Amino acid sequence: MSTYAQQTAENVTLPTSLDEAVAALAAMPSAVPVAGGTDLMVSVNAGLLRPAALVGLGRIAEIRGWQYADGAALLGAGLTHARMGRPDFAALIPALAAAARSAGPPQIRNAGTLGGNIVSAAPTGDALPVLAALEASVILAGPEADREIPVSHLLTGMDPLRPGELLAFVRIPLLHAPQTFLKATGRTGPGRAVASVALVVDPARRQVRCAVGAVAQVPLRPLEAEQWVAGLIDWDGERTLAPEACTAFGEYVAAACIPDQPGVELPPAAVQLRRTVAALSRRALGRALA
Ligand SMILES: Cc1cc2nc3c(=O)[nH]c(=O)nc-3n(C[C@H](O)[C@H](O)[C@H](O)COP(=O)(O)OP(=O)(O)OC[C@H]3O[C@@H](n4cnc5c(N)ncnc54)[C@H](O)[C@@H]3O)c2cc1C
Repeated sequence: MSTYAQQTAENVTLPTSLDEAVAALAAMPSAVPVAGGTDLMVSVNAGLLRPAALVGLGRIAEIRGWQYADGAALLGAGLTHARMGRPDFAALIPALAAAARSAGPPQIRNAGTLGGNIVSAAPTGDALPVLAALEASVILAGPEADREIPVSHLLTGMDPLRPGELLAFVRIPLLHAPQTFLKATGRTGPGRAVASVALVVDPARRQVRCAVGAVAQVPLRPLEAEQWVAGLIDWDGERTLAPEACTAFGEYVAAACIPDQPGVELPPAAVQLRRTVAALSRRALGRALA
């Protein structure tokens, strides 16, 4: 007899370990994993998805917390936004905590998870630019051996989840470096980002890493703007920048993410979005260097 509770009437399986969850998916290839259900149930209610069976991940204790591993934090995919928003987590990964605190109303933050945010891969997913700026990787558990890939490979579809695989953990290097997340919201729904910016000033690698969310299908890294501004910082000294440099950085980032099109005037909405991205990037850099 299986060790996980099986409610065949509703076709919902509730495993209590990752191994059991992977086994449940292997036994029912048409089953769909569900964590907080905040994205999945919207699709079900809208009639876009009719899963034959569900594998609930909410009872798997090993993915609901985090641990330290070789200078990195190994975050369970089942961490909720509410948990990541708490002060102890904010002390560890401030930008991810800020993103979690901004993700929707309280009932969504209580149920919605990091893993669900990543697998849904919505352009407005608040955790996603933070993971891109921190150069996080994801650990996938499946019927074959576990594998670890950069989060960007998953988000761009370069290396998608394979059948029967679950997102188990997210590995984030602990930088002890200033990091910020800022988000602008508008008429896109409750708390959803029109644009967001995650930024890290990393003295160990003498890098500024910036990722812009919500303006494209996946978070964008304006690499040239990052390198340009890193070259202006006196890494052995004060690590401050003149306000004009922060402003120029904001404009560089915005123009890279919302580029001009030859011979075509930018529509007003794009001009406005560019302004928003410029302001967020300027402020994010200013705060990280403050
Ligand atoms: C009203 C409302 C407001 C919202 N506002 C925001 C917001 O401001 N910012 C934001 O970022 N998001 C927002 N969201 C979206 C959503 O809450 C988040 O994306 C949340 O993190 C999803 O997590 P979940 O656990 O609920 O995912 P689920 O709904 O349980 O799952 C989402 C998808 O991921 C898959 N999945 C989940 N976990 C795993 C796993 N471990 N391995 C493999 N596949 C998995 C599921 O099969 C499903 O396809 C909002 C949603 C609603 C309904």
